[in-house]
Amino acid sequence: MPQKNQPGSKLHSNENTNTSALTVDEARSAILSSIERTTLIETIQITAAVGRTIAAEQVAKIAIPPFRNSAMDGYAIRSKDAVADQTFKIIGKSLAGHPFNGTIKAGEAVRITTGAPIPEGADAIVIQELVNVDRGTFTTTASISAQQYIRNPGDDIQSGQLLCATGSRLTTADIGLLAAQGVSHIDVFATPKVGVFSTGDELLTSTEELTHGRIFDSNRATICTMLKNAGIESIDLGICKDDRQSIDNVMQSASGFDFVLSSGGVSVGEADYVKDALEANGDLLFWKVAMKPGKPLVTGKLADGSYYFGLPGNPVSSMVTCLQFVIPAIHAFSGVKYSAPPVIQARCLDSLKKESGRFEFQRGIASIAENNELTVSTTGLQDSHVLSSMSKANCFICLDQFADGAGIDEMVNIVFFSAINGL
Ligand code: AMP
Ligand code: MG
Repeated sequence: MPQKNQPGSKLHSNENTNTSALTVDEARSAILSSIERTTLIETIQITAAVGRTIAAEQVAKIAIPPFRNSAMDGYAIRSKDAVADQTFKIIGKSLAGHPFNGTIKAGEAVRITTGAPIPEGADAIVIQELVNVDRGTFTTTASISAQQYIRNPGDDIQSGQLLCATGSRLTTADIGLLAAQGVSHIDVFATPKVGVFSTGDELLTSTEELTHGRIFDSNRATICTMLKNAGIESIDLGICKDDRQSIDNVMQSASGFDFVLSSGGVSVGEADYVKDALEANGDLLFWKVAMKPGKPLVTGKLADGSYYFGLPGNPVSSMVTCLQFVIPAIHAFSGVKYSAPPVIQARCLDSLKKESGRFEFQRGIASIAENNELTVSTTGLQDSHVLSSMSKANCFICLDQFADGAGIDEMVNIVFFSAINGL
């Protein structure tokens, strides 16, 4: 088992430890407030830092651009000289990385390229397309306004400006902003140690032979991939048999992990031991959420302080619960504040069946109709074993807990997969 980040304190079982189901938001809030942020910080190269969480805010030390420069290839002039038929004499050149060191006087121009410093005295650029050079001179035809095609110091970033706040996840553009400051390394919160295993006597690995009654394990592949997409590395702990002792063994040897995730064995079937095992080997926070797919969800903390998530076994349920709860929880451990992905409205092209009582994440295909309207259609069968519904979809159609379906042409809430951390 790897060395984990911090011991973590015991979770207090609270009034949520009961058999009634929480709403999706209640469940997420209860989980997030049970997570203690890691205190371990590491310094890494910025080029390895995309998706990592900033541990100390980054403030600009220099303005960007650092000097006045040209936005176009052309000629630097004094705008007040640009009257009809004024002839300009080209007295030198300013190339990117090779400034012109003199001062421009009346009727003078300097050849300039994009990004090159503006010579002293100049306050505008005449683009080269408007100029016919003849023996080192040219005549302007258009009037040129001051500041035309000039980029000023700090018009992108001012010195002292906040670049990245503590707790923000670094994007590709953030890494560019830091590189533009000459920053090579950055302090980020240490990545949590996450272990993932599957439970089920029916499960096979890809190297085993398929026999009657068995299936290949797909949940470890989807869970580890969603984590990876969300910037979280995980360790594959394999498949655990459906017996209480084997599950106890995993729970008791998890001290090297900050998070342990399993799938399967969380409902009330004969071979569903995860909830009882967590109660015996730690503390259960809750185990039912009023959602579909994903109603049984066992969550809490193991005796050694690792956070535990027992996700449902059905492939769509394990994906949805991982996206809704596990990834936000692991991000919270790394100091990231949860922000819900944007919900937008689309016109539903199908009639959607639903029973009142549970929030549903149905799978949809959103597209733009000929009249430019955003529409959504169902992927078809919505059962929680139908993993192809996730594969066909590009969004969740989010149906409120007490809604009883949606009719054709009704406006429904959707969340694009591309807006969700992990997909
Ligand atoms: P369970 O939650 O263990 O009762 O499993 C519910 C359903 O999900 C059953 O049909 C299982 O065979 C299936 N299932 C459980 N674990 C996995 C897995 N790792 N990969 C694919 N299907 C699974
Ligand atoms: Mg099972």
